[in-house]
Amino acid sequence: MSNTIIVWFRNDLRIRDNEALYRAVQDAQTVIPVYCIDPRQFAKTPFGFTKTGPFRAQFLLQCLHDLRYSLQDLGADLVVKTGKPEEIIFALAKYHKAKAVYCHQEATDEEYRVEDALINHLDTIDVPLEMFWGSTLYHYDDLTALLPIENLPDVFTQFRQFAETRLQVRPTYPVPPPITLPPNVQTGSIPALQELGLTPPTPDARAVMPFTGGETAALLRLKYYLWEKDLLKSYEETRNRLIGGDYSSKLSAWLALGCISPRTIYEEVQRYEQERVKNKSTYWLIFELLWRDYFRFVAVKYGNHLFKPGGLKQLPPNTTYQPALFERWAKGQTGIPFIDANMRELNATGFMSNRGRQNAASFLVKDMKQNWQAGAAWFEHLLIDYDVCSNYGNWNYIAGIGNDPRQDRYFNVLSQTAKYDAKGEFVKLWCPELRKLPSGRIHEPYLLQPPEQRYVGVVLGVQYPHPCIDITHWRATGK
Ligand SMILES: Cc1cc2nc3c(=O)[nH]c(=O)nc-3n(C[C@H](O)[C@H](O)[C@H](O)COP(=O)(O)OP(=O)(O)OC[C@H]3O[C@@H](n4cnc5c(N)ncnc54)[C@H](O)[C@@H]3O)c2cc1C
Repeated sequence: MSNTIIVWFRNDLRIRDNEALYRAVQDAQTVIPVYCIDPRQFAKTPFGFTKTGPFRAQFLLQCLHDLRYSLQDLGADLVVKTGKPEEIIFALAKYHKAKAVYCHQEATDEEYRVEDALINHLDTIDVPLEMFWGSTLYHYDDLTALLPIENLPDVFTQFRQFAETRLQVRPTYPVPPPITLPPNVQTGSIPALQELGLTPPTPDARAVMPFTGGETAALLRLKYYLWEKDLLKSYEETRNRLIGGDYSSKLSAWLALGCISPRTIYEEVQRYEQERVKNKSTYWLIFELLWRDYFRFVAVKYGNHLFKPGGLKQLPPNTTYQPALFERWAKGQTGIPFIDANMRELNATGFMSNRGRQNAASFLVKDMKQNWQAGAAWFEHLLIDYDVCSNYGNWNYIAGIGNDPRQDRYFNVLSQTAKYDAKGEFVKLWCPELRKLPSGRIHEPYLLQPPEQRYVGVVLGVQYPHPCIDITHWRATGK
């Protein structure tokens, strides 16, 4: 057996604070870093669209290029192969007579199944798969040493209080020292988006910001948000806005693919608190990272219930799936401008604000009475920052089958717009056909009488759709 360890990169596409990589470099003379582009991630869902759409795929490919450059700087390279990880990693381990495979652990079923299949293959050649936990702020082992996962509170606040008082954030791992590749390693090329069967998205000037994949861009974004523009100090006041890059950190996509770790962000926020200001906003960014942690731990606790129609609460399903109606929501043609604006933003850019996601998800489930799983799958297809635990956890929460302690929480679109888009600026940005509507009608074009419709150039059913729900009942009851 050689003194080689394979590092299997998954959603940890970074060299800083990467325990699997760091330890491999300590434990072996030669290290082979590998990423597998798994065709199953590009397959169609039962709803007829692919799991991964062009925005995230493009971001992923950029991440791989950046990781390859970083590893080359360390004297190594990134092996990139298309195929099932359980087969590719096994074949590499066998060929290079690796003594172990190291990787980061995931938290949900599809990933577990790949891990199990790989373990089974590796067992035949006596090679262990060693897994590390590196995706959350608080370490899984630190949490479960005090609180077995089955006792994880079902209410976020209880978890947060426990974490804040009983747990410590572990320090980050440094960039590893130079890495030596064994001889005869075929690195392979990183495919173009078209080779994955996807068309490159057209950039949209209305996007909150351009997202470029990779650790380099992630660190630049952190620097911009904290140090260059000093935006963190007012995060708590701005975070519910809808337009532009500066209202929130926009770190989610880099976190989702592991280009940056939550611990790295935490350390930088601590430094900011020491050198600039410590206030409610600096606390709140970490508070949001705790939500991210929580959904990951919830996924471990509940396993596949996260994906089932009745969700974590295992309730009987109370929605239907009507493809034509779902399509109106997905394409931003519901006739409710705030929902349409958010969905069009998602379709055109791969991003939607947190406020938008809450409203769009609530509207689909509570107002249109449509299957939440279809909505979650559409988000999975389009979001650059798609993260299985955050996406399905939030959808469970909004659909009332997850971790929301409030029974029947409901986002009333009209009161939400009064609060967050009072002048209709966001709607006008994404629904340009409504631009001429006065502010009293911008969120309710269906109230325009036919002469007014002609005056503002919006005839319902022609330039803009009729509402897809019973509007009289909706306005009267808020549902
Ligand atoms: C229906 C629905 C689906 C969602 N799907 C995803 C998803 O697939 N991936 C994802 O990263 N987030 C998801 N979110 C959470 C949230 O909307 C995004 O994390 C956030 O909008 C990203 O923007 P930001 O990085 O500027 O966030 P910021 O406001 O700057 O927050 C900082 C970080 O905290 C974390 N965070 C913030 N809010 C949440 C939350 N509610 N749940 C979990 N983590 C949070 C994110 O990692 C985020 O980057 C979803 C929310 C809803 C309501």
